[in-house]
Amino acid sequence: MKVTDHLKDAKDTIISFEILPPQKGKGIESIYNHLDPLMEFKPAFINVTYHRSEYIFKKKTDGAFEKVEIRKRPGTVGICAAIMNHYKIDAVPHLICGGFSKEETENALIDLNFLGIDNVLVLRGDAPKNETFFSPEPDGHHYALELLNQVVNMNHGIYIEDDLTDGLKTNFCIGVAGYPEKHFEAPNMETDMHYLKKKVEHGAEYITTQMFFNNDKFFEFEQCCRKNGITVPIIPGLKPITTKRQLTVLPHIFHIDIPSELSESIIACKKDEDVAKIGKEWLISQCKSLKAHGVPALHFYTMGRTHIMYEVVKGIM
Ligand code: FAD
Repeated sequence: MKVTDHLKDAKDTIISFEILPPQKGKGIESIYNHLDPLMEFKPAFINVTYHRSEYIFKKKTDGAFEKVEIRKRPGTVGICAAIMNHYKIDAVPHLICGGFSKEETENALIDLNFLGIDNVLVLRGDAPKNETFFSPEPDGHHYALELLNQVVNMNHGIYIEDDLTDGLKTNFCIGVAGYPEKHFEAPNMETDMHYLKKKVEHGAEYITTQMFFNNDKFFEFEQCCRKNGITVPIIPGLKPITTKRQLTVLPHIFHIDIPSELSESIIACKKDEDVAKIGKEWLISQCKSLKAHGVPALHFYTMGRTHIMYEVVKGIM
């Protein structure tokens, strides 16, 4: 079932979770162990992130270094199929431009279609860890919009090969990312909004946001979207802070602000256990206010934190 159908059918705010594939070498049990306790909350769908390859430098016997490409978290498509099979819950694989050619993307979409997966969240992806700027593969996409166009084309039976004229029309429901605090590369919110609107005009059916810790940022973003004629559902992305280190790591990686009221309480904590308690309470209060506002769904970035995620969702039920 499509994410948009879940949203349409819902009588109340729905719950969804987002998970990362495990590090290479771990089995599907690690995913089930993480998700089993959260099934009590009957999530409408589960997103699975996609991770591009990274380059590492390995020392050879002659002392020289060799650049090696490794994918530390493979398996998104397989995990989605396993989730759908094991829990009978819809899975939403993330698809990224970074590291993929158009043909590889097409093949992934064909696999997803064969597996009965009819949702995708399309994203650009970021630069590899040791590079500053994103650059596409020689035959890849520069922006999420281009990747989205490829999925929309397949939904119309248009494949990369010109001579494939009677191709199956896929039926993917397409989500895209939005940034309540602006995407870090966008010169300003207006420009970012312009490109977000383009994604919607070209076929994105809903928006899932980057995490935020100040609901006012989400409300302003939502208002700005509506003012700009973006009418699709906007799903807030949410995450609990669990360690003191995240006070600097999250702004660094995700380019988001942490409100001073929250950061001051965390700085005053002696142990991460106390931080997690504050992070949990903060998120519960965020969720209650978002629910009261009438958001269609609460989308949780679980980051492997089963216990705290369980307590947060329990706290808002
Ligand atoms: P885009 O929509 O392409 O935008 C990127 C930047 O380019 C923005 O500044 C935008 O304003 C600008 N822009 C857009 N179109 C154009 C254009 N035509 N011309 C000029 N400028 C343009 N990353 C992963 O690697 N794997 C994941 O699984 C993943 N999941 C995510 C899930 C969510 C909900 C979110 C919010 C982010 C996720 N990310 C993931 C991170 C994401 O890949 C990065 O934030 C990335 O930097 C931007 O992706 P995007 O799809 O928003 O890009």
